[in-house]
Amino acid sequence: MNRGTQTPGRPDLDRLVPEYVKAFQPYTPSKPDDVLCRMIGCSRLYRLNNNENPLGPPAAARAVIGSYPPPRAAIYPSGDAYHLRCRLAERFGLHPDQFLVGNGANEAIAFVIKAFCQEGDNIVTADRTFAVYEWVAAFSGFTAHLVPLKDFAFDDEAMLARIDERTKILFVCNPNNPTGSYWTEQQLRRFLDRVAGRQIVVVDEAYGEFVEQSDFPDGMRLLGDYPNLVIFRTFSKMYGLAGLRIGYLAGDRAVVDVIRRTCVVYSVNGLAQEAAVAALSDEEHITATRELIRAAKASLLPVLDQLGLTYVNGEGNFLMVRLPFNDALAYRRLLSHGVMIRSMAGFRFPNWIRISLALPEAMQALAEALAAVINHES
Ligand SMILES: *Cc1c(COP(=O)(O)O)cnc(C)c1O
Repeated sequence: MNRGTQTPGRPDLDRLVPEYVKAFQPYTPSKPDDVLCRMIGCSRLYRLNNNENPLGPPAAARAVIGSYPPPRAAIYPSGDAYHLRCRLAERFGLHPDQFLVGNGANEAIAFVIKAFCQEGDNIVTADRTFAVYEWVAAFSGFTAHLVPLKDFAFDDEAMLARIDERTKILFVCNPNNPTGSYWTEQQLRRFLDRVAGRQIVVVDEAYGEFVEQSDFPDGMRLLGDYPNLVIFRTFSKMYGLAGLRIGYLAGDRAVVDVIRRTCVVYSVNGLAQEAAVAALSDEEHITATRELIRAAKASLLPVLDQLGLTYVNGEGNFLMVRLPFNDALAYRRLLSHGVMIRSMAGFRFPNWIRISLALPEAMQALAEALAAVINHES
């Protein structure tokens, strides 16, 4: 660089910024609803891009949120989500110290990677799954080995084959976002048996509460058998608290004691902690949400069939659909009809979109928008 043209005091970013940060593309979130509605001239926007629960939080959590005393906003929350961890311990028959609560499960991903990886280490996960595992590794300077999905599912054999002496963590999304595929309890146990404690195995159960198949494993019940297992759960999806940002991990006490060293105290606010405690007791909410998802799927599949679209019908509150044209174009076209979906080139599924299953009114708007966009194209 020509030194003479540099403004004095301007940081020398070329020297200051690590190469792996320079190489990383920042994530661009969508604009807020009011801004988007003004841009596209729509009075109503249906967000089907983030797999949120359209029923909102459970009734008990609503009550907590509605009556939260304003003076409490001035007070720091419990630094280790004390009451929530006690409630989780009771619920899952574990010790409170086996839980670590984060600002969304997203933060827990960072905790685990920071706790176990050092320069030269790597993680192993799938190429087409929740991208945050790969992103946190990449912008922290660690390699993410990405194993291709097999028949839209995590490939256990190929993941085991990809492990090397510097592999610290294996991330498995169960069921997988975005394909909805899952490992059965038998398959997960076989995988854990073969890893045999050499790596930390994270099983992300962000959508676990949506799965009703009897062979789907409850990770919490496997912790006793596999001390290298770490389970992620979130209040963002089934429990409808995405806006409050709260999730957690569970594992063996010795492992969680290590992970706890890397977490920043006070990252989880007091309202989120109290709403989460209340949300956990509401079984009716889970039943109602599952019914809503079943109905949304039943209404949407015939529409997709009629439009001649291919889809992957898996577990979870979302559906992956293949379009006969580019997904970024589909995103813009559907948005102009007031429907936001997730374009999937970022998941390495170009020409596919992911749709969150939601209320009948939203599914109807989506069906109409899809029909308009498809018929316009072909
Ligand atoms: C949504 C999601 C999460 C976590 O979300 P938070 O809102 O950060 O709790 C984690 N994993 C997967 C696969 C998800 O889809």
